[in-house]
Amino acid sequence: PQLANQIAAGEVVERPASVVKELVENCLDAGASKVEIEIDRGGSKRILIRDNGIGIGKSELALALSRHATSKVASLDDLESILSFGFRGEALASISSVSRLTLTSKTQDQSEAWQAYAEGQEMAVKVQPAAHPVGTSVLVEDLFFNTPARRRFLRADKTEFNHIDEALRRIALAKPSIHFVLSHNGKLVRQYRSARTERQHQQRLAAICGGKFAEAAFAISAGNEQLQLHGHLGIAQGEQSFSEVQYFYVNGRIVRDRLVNHALRQALELHGQRLDAGFVLHLELPPQEVDVNVHPAKHEVRFHQARYVHDFILQGLSDAIAQLQS
Ligand code: ADP
Ligand code: MG
Repeated sequence: PQLANQIAAGEVVERPASVVKELVENCLDAGASKVEIEIDRGGSKRILIRDNGIGIGKSELALALSRHATSKVASLDDLESILSFGFRGEALASISSVSRLTLTSKTQDQSEAWQAYAEGQEMAVKVQPAAHPVGTSVLVEDLFFNTPARRRFLRADKTEFNHIDEALRRIALAKPSIHFVLSHNGKLVRQYRSARTERQHQQRLAAICGGKFAEAAFAISAGNEQLQLHGHLGIAQGEQSFSEVQYFYVNGRIVRDRLVNHALRQALELHGQRLDAGFVLHLELPPQEVDVNVHPAKHEVRFHQARYVHDFILQGLSDAIAQLQS
């Protein structure tokens, strides 16, 4: 099981930031309203993710760690020829196979918390009592300690932490009601408080994307029966560039999409605006109108009515920019 898990890990657990992304998504799936992330040495030494979600019951702890019950493949060579794993249900098992992972959790209806970790080649899971409030903590120590090739691939702590910081930004922008805390080497680095009021949303945007962007950005809001586009667009002035602040979400998932970029560029060009604009935009459309998950780690989508979506985005942005200019 360890080998199979390690291969699955190779697909998506590329670096500490990918671990953080997977684990934070689990917290959100568990209905957490607060997620705390502690990082040591860029995540290669220690990643701790603590949430106040529904928790994992004692009897499910082992299962959560060992989704890959059996594997038909015996060697890495075999595996390379059938590289078609989905990553669904494999994050914990995969991460656990390339680190020392401890899962601690308590559910509402349990009087005690429980802790689980997998050991050795067979990844046998041990479960023992622990102290923990309702919710879950996942501790990931010594990432890639047993896959030296991957470990060598890691960059400087600062670089790895920057990737984590960016991964959190992407999630936090899509989940304004969740409180996130990020620290590095014992120092608080980010605090994104949950936002409800307009003013709180503005403060959160500033915390995540920078005060200059939040100040320059104006609201985008367009929609018809099928499509909704909302968020912020900030056009840079002078020395400033906002090209680092470019986030586009489709039904809550971040995507990188040529069609979207093209529509955006056209809208800016149409109005003689600089192309280094920043944006945080959310497109909502019926799920059957779009294929996501082409690959879990790439952020690609395929719109069924690509032209229609393109023109809708172009129109929405163009109208907003026109209004700004008038
Ligand atoms: P997936 O999220 O695709 O189901 P994972 O390997 O990421 O697969 O997680 C396995 C399972 O462990 C989840 O389905 C969930 O039941 C449980 N789990 C993981 N993290 C948490 C968490 N933070 N809170 C509650 N349950 C969790
Ligand atoms: Mg998951």
